[in-house]
Amino acid sequence: MKLIKTLVCIVALYILPIVLGAAQAADTVKLTLMHVNDVYQLGPVDKGKNGGLARLATQVQRIRQDTTNSLFIFGGDTLSPSVASNTFRGAQMIAGWNALKVDLAVLGNHEFDFGPEVFRQRLDESEFPWLAANVRERGGVFKGAKNQVGATRMFEFGGVKVGFVGVLTPSTAVSSKPGEHIVFDDPLETVQREAQSLREQGAVAVVALTHLDMDDDRRIAASGNVDVVMGGHDHALLQALVGRTPIFKSGSDARILARVDLVFDSASHRLLTTDWEMLPINASLPEDSEVAKVVSGFEEKLSVLLDQTVGETAVELDARQENNRSRETNFGNWLADVYRASTKADVALINGGSIRSNSVYGPGKLSKRDILGILPFENPIVKLQIPGYQLRAAIEHGVAAAHRSNENGAFLQVSGIRFVFDATRPAGDRVVEMMVNDQALDVKKSYTLAVNGYLANGGDGYAMLKGLPFLLKAEDGLSETAEVIEALLRQKVIQPTVEGRIRRVADGR
Ligand SMILES: [Zn+2]
Repeated sequence: MKLIKTLVCIVALYILPIVLGAAQAADTVKLTLMHVNDVYQLGPVDKGKNGGLARLATQVQRIRQDTTNSLFIFGGDTLSPSVASNTFRGAQMIAGWNALKVDLAVLGNHEFDFGPEVFRQRLDESEFPWLAANVRERGGVFKGAKNQVGATRMFEFGGVKVGFVGVLTPSTAVSSKPGEHIVFDDPLETVQREAQSLREQGAVAVVALTHLDMDDDRRIAASGNVDVVMGGHDHALLQALVGRTPIFKSGSDARILARVDLVFDSASHRLLTTDWEMLPINASLPEDSEVAKVVSGFEEKLSVLLDQTVGETAVELDARQENNRSRETNFGNWLADVYRASTKADVALINGGSIRSNSVYGPGKLSKRDILGILPFENPIVKLQIPGYQLRAAIEHGVAAAHRSNENGAFLQVSGIRFVFDATRPAGDRVVEMMVNDQALDVKKSYTLAVNGYLANGGDGYAMLKGLPFLLKAEDGLSETAEVIEALLRQKVIQPTVEGRIRRVADGR
């Protein structure tokens, strides 16, 4: 009797869970989500080590083959900026995503960098649906477009309905060029409304596909309206749990593929578990031949155009992100001088965030490819008339975030101006000395200013530049890329230096 009891115990302890486990697996429905966000390059990055759409395709294919239900999701930001986008305006990335057979995508802010018309073209080329529930389009900009931006999407797997809602950062209105007919609603309110509507339509789980700052993602997760947040916009690999809602962001440029498995009870349809894994995309993966063909096709077209030498630098040119966003750099000086000279303006301002590539160049030859890598935005150069007090306000705005961040895209590189700032003073009152062409700034005097079209439109928070009278408009067609290439061809060898245009009072830290 005692023996039997023990046996029963053993059965209960060891055999029963195994049987239950097996039963559970059979009675569940699994949905596998694959996600990448902020992918600007078709080919590999980090000197070929990581990323690359052809390798990504192999990993996605493997998971598709190993699972019954899967969705491959793109988290936004792909049309720009990059050297290739400067030529193809994002068409190369859409071709890549089509070849990868994306199931669902959410808009990123950079999708509007070439304006609403080009965006519409890319939308029409996309063989997959885009979501952005908080983007409204007025005045029929996309009327008759083959593809439309949807708010939500419902999928059904083995009787289990899963809803997806997409939202995009409202800062797109100022950080990109969507035009006045595209408006952005509050993402949190939108997700709450759409998630509820998806549940009313029978969704047992709702996934928020977002392209937002992490703070906004945290608010969405904390609201308890969604079961998973898959985000973009941040380029860092981020994972967080807020309440019971996990947030995943997959880095950038397809270095990592996030895999999230949602397991549902097939009878009650309850979400039982959420498992995840971050899968590296690197040289250990063979390239998918079909996607590789698309990639090499665009690369060949591009390299012919871009490998021409346009000039030479005798010194190391500093296009590093952190430096251009926190202090005077030799490249920032040279670029601001090109702006000033090409417009014959008194002064020029360059936002550090417009200097890309995060690299050092030379000494040596510079190709068109190098220049487009540093300046991928195809910015128009404009000339404004600005009162001295507004010019001072702009310089103040550039250093307003200096105490918080070395990654402040609004930080200014300057030409025709020298200034000293003290980051320990209150924001808005930090500029302790300011000279314009070797004379003290006259707040009442009017100056002429060269900036890119982005800043002239109030981008990066430069509200004081918006609405100033234009002496040269964006439509006048003075292009940053063209002027820089012209300047290099003319100067042949450049050797800019850091010369004390911007000085920071030591803040004792
Ligand atoms: Zn973004």
